[in-house]
Amino acid sequence: PLSHRTETVRDARRPPRAAPAIEFAGVHKWYGAFHVLRDIRLAVHPGERVVVCGPSGSGKSTLIRCVNRLEEHQKGAIRVHGVELSASSREIDRVRREVGMVFQQFNLFPHLTVLQNCALAPVWAEGVKRREAEDRAHALLAKVKIADQAHKYPSELSGGQQQRVAIARALCMNPKIMLFDEPTSALDPEMVKEVLDTMTALASEGMTMIVVTHEMGFARRVADKVVFMDNGEVVEAGDPEEFFTAPRHERARQFLSRLL
Ligand code: ADP
Ligand code: MG
Repeated sequence: PLSHRTETVRDARRPPRAAPAIEFAGVHKWYGAFHVLRDIRLAVHPGERVVVCGPSGSGKSTLIRCVNRLEEHQKGAIRVHGVELSASSREIDRVRREVGMVFQQFNLFPHLTVLQNCALAPVWAEGVKRREAEDRAHALLAKVKIADQAHKYPSELSGGQQQRVAIARALCMNPKIMLFDEPTSALDPEMVKEVLDTMTALASEGMTMIVVTHEMGFARRVADKVVFMDNGEVVEAGDPEEFFTAPRHERARQFLSRLL
């Protein structure tokens, strides 16, 4: 009875769990007649790190592109910090600023220096003074360990360095959520680690992250939750250790056996 009482007291003191950072509630999406997302139900809580994996064409990119409205869903609801994405465009602009995205193909502006790449959006989308945006950019380039490259052009950098610039550029908008779409898939093997290390550092600072990746070592070390998609569905979502050692679904087992 005593232990029961302490339990109750502890529960009462525990703050109410914050609203999800991202919530998919019965989301469907079609490209024309093609049903690409099927009844997605998923919650990502503040500070959570979610790794999404699954075969090519299973809908992983589409799923995360829906979070910042690069793609629109047709049925169900997506909420980002409680704001439903079918809300007014002004609200969606605000959500977009809170959600940073990093792509497989870096997508840096080739005619701008590293520093200009980083300072561009804060100046034009947020109205930050150029000087202030450049100070912020310098700080974030230092954080991704590339401060000395600030005045180079993207083509003068290695792939790993370009991807770290892309991460710094996204961070310059002070996002609350970061989305990564196969950020290391276009890199030579020797550059994968430096990018994963940057992402691991970000995760350890409590950033809310969804990472589409097949880097299973990263998933095991960093993810709070692994989501396995196949054919537009979330087939399995749960603890990384359980997923890797004892996947519950045959499709997940097949996928993992092909990775090894
Ligand atoms: P993944 O990232 O898991 O490889 P995607 O989300 O890119 O999967 O694509 C899922 C499916 O949707 C694929 O069959 C792909 O060909 C198709 N698809 C992706 N984008 C479009 C588009 N803009 N128009 C039509 N079909 C698309
Ligand atoms: Mg993809």
